[in-house]
Amino acid sequence: MHFLQIPGPTNVPGRVLRAMSRPTIDHRGPEFAELTLDLLPRLRAVFQTRHDVVVYASSGTGAWEAALVNTLSPGDRVLAFETGHFATLWCQMAARLGLEVDFVPGDWRHGVDPDLVAEHLTDQTAAVMVVHNETSTGVRSRIPEIRAALDRAGHPALLLVDTISSLGSMDYRHDEWGVDVTVGCSQKGLMLPPGLGFNAISPKALAHPGRMLRSYWDWRPVLAANRTGYFPHTPATNLLYGLAEALTMMEEEGLDQVFARHDRHAEATRRAVRAWGLEVLCADPREYSSALTAVMTPPGFDADEVRRVILERYDMSLGAGLGRLSGQIFRIGHLGHFNDLMLAGTLGGVEMGLRAAGLPIKEGGVQHALAYLAETGS
Ligand SMILES: *Cc1c(COP(=O)(O)O)cnc(C)c1O
Repeated sequence: MHFLQIPGPTNVPGRVLRAMSRPTIDHRGPEFAELTLDLLPRLRAVFQTRHDVVVYASSGTGAWEAALVNTLSPGDRVLAFETGHFATLWCQMAARLGLEVDFVPGDWRHGVDPDLVAEHLTDQTAAVMVVHNETSTGVRSRIPEIRAALDRAGHPALLLVDTISSLGSMDYRHDEWGVDVTVGCSQKGLMLPPGLGFNAISPKALAHPGRMLRSYWDWRPVLAANRTGYFPHTPATNLLYGLAEALTMMEEEGLDQVFARHDRHAEATRRAVRAWGLEVLCADPREYSSALTAVMTPPGFDADEVRRVILERYDMSLGAGLGRLSGQIFRIGHLGHFNDLMLAGTLGGVEMGLRAAGLPIKEGGVQHALAYLAETGS
């Protein structure tokens, strides 16, 4: 069996695959309206919002674009932080769309510093863009503290948050944390194949339509059609079947238990990494990701060579170092559909692979992780 332990796309459970294998139906027929009207309120629960969530047939990148073009005007200033590769890409998109980006440099080992948010706000700042879980580094930004910084400054900027790799794996509260647009997609914590993008929208964001050009991404026609259970275009019907099943799985387990499971697997992973004598990239324990762990290889050891050995010998895919971290880290995905034995197998493969690639690791990494799982297991 192939182990797909990259931080997205993730392992799709058999239940979800089987749900998606049902025949495609008429997206303008009565059965489809029932599907949508059942699905949308349940999807809101995952964002912990009472407000609208728009579903696109797109990857996460499309949903990024939707968040910008539905809220901003050409030439608007946005404030963003260099937490890693994905934060950088989202900013490049904003600049290409004609926005003025204030991009605060970072070291790719920390999340957004809430104090720096306040420091860099200007009278012209229209929005603050934050990646909740920076998938390139395994670092989580503290959204409630960023919200508090905006509130303390009494600043009206919209808060736009990318939760693409945390949604459905790590606690995330669109309403309580005062987020204006939350960007998500299907293939990471939600246990689905790629192909769905999401925007959760606050009433404030909806009331600020901006003047950027938009057509397919315009929320309003989608929201209007959704009221009666339809879409203004052909939706990704079979992915919606899968989404309904994935939501059922999360409801059965309970969202709090889903988050606790990921927190526990992340801690077990970090214990293994430390026991091997290696370093976790995330430099601040308050910012550890529960969706993935980025591991630094010691100087002189190419992380891509470690990944190559692991893929060849054990048929397991791990995440590569992206951008400026290329060759220096590998990333262990433990998000989405994942359990204790999958973690044990994953860490076993990493430990054997590190040794096979000639890294001078210490004994006992997997044992430390298993001991923690045993201690904390139900
Ligand atoms: C994967 C990812 C994206 C990009 O999503 P695509 O579906 O590849 O377009 C953006 N942001 C984060 C944090 C991601 O993990």
